[in-house]
Amino acid sequence: MLTLAYHEQNPQIYKMHIDGRWVDSADGGIFESYHPGTGKTIGYLQAGTRDDAREAVRAARRASESFRETSVWERSALLRRIVGVLEKRKEELAFYLTLDQGKPYHTEAVFEIAGMIKMYEEASELIKWQESSVIPVEDKNKRVFTIHQPRGVYAVITPWNFPFTIPSEYMSAGLAAGNTIVWVPAPTTSICAVKLMECFEEAGVPQGVVNLVTGRGDVVGDEIVVNPGTDGIGFTGSSATGKLIAARGAGKPLLLELGGNGPTIVLKDADIPSAAASIASGCFFNAGQVCSSTERILADVDIYDKLLSTLADHAARVRLGDPFDPATTMGPLNNVQVFDKNVAHAEDARRRGARFLTGGKPAEGLGGSLFFEPTVVADIDRDSLYNQEETFGPVAPVIPFRTREEALELAHADGWGLVNSVFTNSMKESLFFAEKLRAGIVNINENSNYWEPHLPFGGASGKASGLGRIGGKYSIMEMSDLKTVCIDLR
Ligand code: NAD
Repeated sequence: MLTLAYHEQNPQIYKMHIDGRWVDSADGGIFESYHPGTGKTIGYLQAGTRDDAREAVRAARRASESFRETSVWERSALLRRIVGVLEKRKEELAFYLTLDQGKPYHTEAVFEIAGMIKMYEEASELIKWQESSVIPVEDKNKRVFTIHQPRGVYAVITPWNFPFTIPSEYMSAGLAAGNTIVWVPAPTTSICAVKLMECFEEAGVPQGVVNLVTGRGDVVGDEIVVNPGTDGIGFTGSSATGKLIAARGAGKPLLLELGGNGPTIVLKDADIPSAAASIASGCFFNAGQVCSSTERILADVDIYDKLLSTLADHAARVRLGDPFDPATTMGPLNNVQVFDKNVAHAEDARRRGARFLTGGKPAEGLGGSLFFEPTVVADIDRDSLYNQEETFGPVAPVIPFRTREEALELAHADGWGLVNSVFTNSMKESLFFAEKLRAGIVNINENSNYWEPHLPFGGASGKASGLGRIGGKYSIMEMSDLKTVCIDLR
């Protein structure tokens, strides 16, 4: 039954999926899952133990022996079968996404599922065209070429903000490349993970090729990172956890997709109405819980007031409420930790004299306690948490600048470097900022959330936003070993 009321009245117990079987945790522990819109229990998940995680790694190792030998065409066909099942179950998956994560069903959840399906479709094609090279060498008696091979068993750990697309970035590329996987999803969106595993099972993913272990990140997540049975790590989550994982998994190939505090720079020659509309979407999409969210806006003083008032108009039009209601355009935050962070960042700004044009506080009377008002805030102090840290909420903090040098200096004043945006009508300024900004991605006249699944996505070097590039052929490359073969002809 696809209704919230049914799940609140009949909370199910969901199992983990290890070595092709649905299993309970080794010690029988479970944890509760709730709907962020009401705070009511919707199910119970297995609190996996280190032993469960070890069993999953052993299963993935066994499965790797035969899966790594499958041909590219076989893996492409497997990915297409996954596409078929996801297509068939897409409405059900979107329902569980809203139930578990809290994003609006009609304006966001259905699109996340469509985006996820595209990832498997694209991986099924891209893997067939993963050519390698024959490299000329000095020695005339040698022939040298490269081949891509599976790395082996991947430890994949994922967050709660996109519980279908983020895991699927790793699953689609990882399976295409011939790896087997042990997956630890975020606890607050683990029902989505169980639903995705059901789809893999239905599509005939072989026993042990993808294993799902639910539970605490610092228990089962840590185990798959340190376990010598895993050969590579794919992690998307906070920078703090990412750093820990890099240390704990030292020596293994790492794909780290971490946080951001992306500035959007608005120059005085920009088209303000269209910039404001795009920026509002960058701030409020998924209630701001996106690594590429527009976390802060740097505005030329000449257009500062106009931009602020236009952003406030957009914030006033956001319909915050029940994420299953077709009229809703923004849902609750996903969990208490991110909610508390939003409250703390707003209080910090208030203490420092910031001016709130809208929001800056929890929304009341909506049935749950995780709703936060869409916020537009001016006169931000440079040392404020809004300027320095990732807020991960529906907030548009605006900071004025006078020269492009000052804009750059402000943009670089934090430790992050994921996605930056610039709004300008000048080609010269576009190129200046595209080249100078130290970020993995720079979007010009488009908000920071724009991305397509085949484009390279990741943080700039030397910053806190991650390592490596995810997206299409880039993920497949990151999740493959490149072997150099030399043949002597004599
Ligand atoms: P988090 O770091 O708290 O948790 C991420 C995952 O790591 C969860 O599954 C968690 O259970 C697990 N984990 C926690 N401690 C662990 C440990 N010691 N060892 C192993 N695993 C552990 O992050 P979150 O709050 O779930 O996600 C939000 C963060 O993710 C934000 O900072 C956001 O910017 C970032 N993010 C980045 C991208 C990207 O592509 N760069 C995309 C989405 C989210």
